[in-house]
Amino acid sequence: MQQLTILGATGSIGASTLDVVARHPDRFRVYALSGNSRISELAEQCRRFNPRFAVVADTHAAGQLREQLLGLETEVLWGMDGLCQVSSDKAVDVVMAAIVGAAGLLPTLAAARSGKKVLLANKESLVMGGQLFMDTLRKSGAMLLPIDSEHNAIFQCLPPGYDASEKSGVRKILLTASGGPFRNLPLADLSAVTPDQACAHPNWQMGRKISVDSATMMNKGLELIEACWLFGLSPQDIDVVIHPQSVIHSMVEYVDGSVLAQLGNPDMRTPITHALAWPERIESGVASLDIIATARLDFGVPDLRRFPCLGLAIQAAKEGGSAPVALNAANEVAVDGFLQGELSFIDISRVVADVLESHEVAEPESLEHVQQIDKKAREDALKLVHSMRQ
Ligand code: NAD
Ligand code: MG
Repeated sequence: MQQLTILGATGSIGASTLDVVARHPDRFRVYALSGNSRISELAEQCRRFNPRFAVVADTHAAGQLREQLLGLETEVLWGMDGLCQVSSDKAVDVVMAAIVGAAGLLPTLAAARSGKKVLLANKESLVMGGQLFMDTLRKSGAMLLPIDSEHNAIFQCLPPGYDASEKSGVRKILLTASGGPFRNLPLADLSAVTPDQACAHPNWQMGRKISVDSATMMNKGLELIEACWLFGLSPQDIDVVIHPQSVIHSMVEYVDGSVLAQLGNPDMRTPITHALAWPERIESGVASLDIIATARLDFGVPDLRRFPCLGLAIQAAKEGGSAPVALNAANEVAVDGFLQGELSFIDISRVVADVLESHEVAEPESLEHVQQIDKKAREDALKLVHSMRQ
């Protein structure tokens, strides 16, 4: 029986994970769940899965949750300490890291440090702390399995025991991207799109932050940086390919000319189940891919005028060091500004570009250093958001 902690249980990935777990009560026991704001949903999940711990943001939320859980054995913890405790607890085997944004960095690192099997959805933590993560994994022997559908696809297409330092005959990675809801919108209309339009992704149901990132294609840029760390690659080894159907989740090309792809319906339960059961295969609840109904698969090159955030992320990936930390922080602030109605959609890339422009690239030396760089970039981005306020 695998004891599982789900960080970000109330989110889209968290809910899909619980859906899979409920299909396999003989394999997985939910040890801890965390949620930030939706206390009633977290309470409902606790009643259903009876975890040993539930973690919320602060003492106020903890009080609210305790009231809703009267009579249940679940102990309520709060704050970053609570999250790190349930990520590193001796009793835990597997940690699903599905908090959105930089808030996931510390608990995900805590899980890696404690040698857990880490299922990584929280790409922002790897973008920020890539070197720290890789060093920590080497030291602790923890296993990191990618949940992001593209990285999970690449993982599935690489040979078993793939060694990043040897590249195992890999020539390049084809990282697929749907192009989001604005792939064909006239460029002049982009400035007036609303948060709800940006969050209406054509193929995937996701949280609001990653949905906006998909609309700007910053998501693909963060994924390119994520892939560099996970698979020991350089930005030059990765081609971003627009594939609007989201049926091929990414491809690996080998030096002999073979190209391996992983296909499936766009449903996150596939990569989640793959990683939960790896190296076995178990039922996920995902419908069979109807390849006949799919009929065609299209491919194209992303237009960087339409998607300047992708260009900025590639630039930050090439600069390396602290540049991705600043990129990620500025993007989180700008996306939040857009979702709050303070910025227009096209201002997101302006904020990120300005923060990167003034950022002096350094080599992050420690966790504290990463946090300092993140904080400074957030302050700079926030100033820009205030100056641009609509
Ligand atoms: P979501 O917004 O639906 O859920 C986010 C979760 O994080 C919620 O449980 C929320 O309570 C928690 N959270 C938010 N802020 C927090 C904070 N400050 N402290 C503690 N907890 C906090 O997001 P999602 O779509 O489930 O995405 C989660 C992560 O997975 C993101 O990093 C995203 O990039 C990645 N991801 C998501 C998908 C997808 O299909 N949804 C696909 C690939 C990768
Ligand atoms: Mg993805």
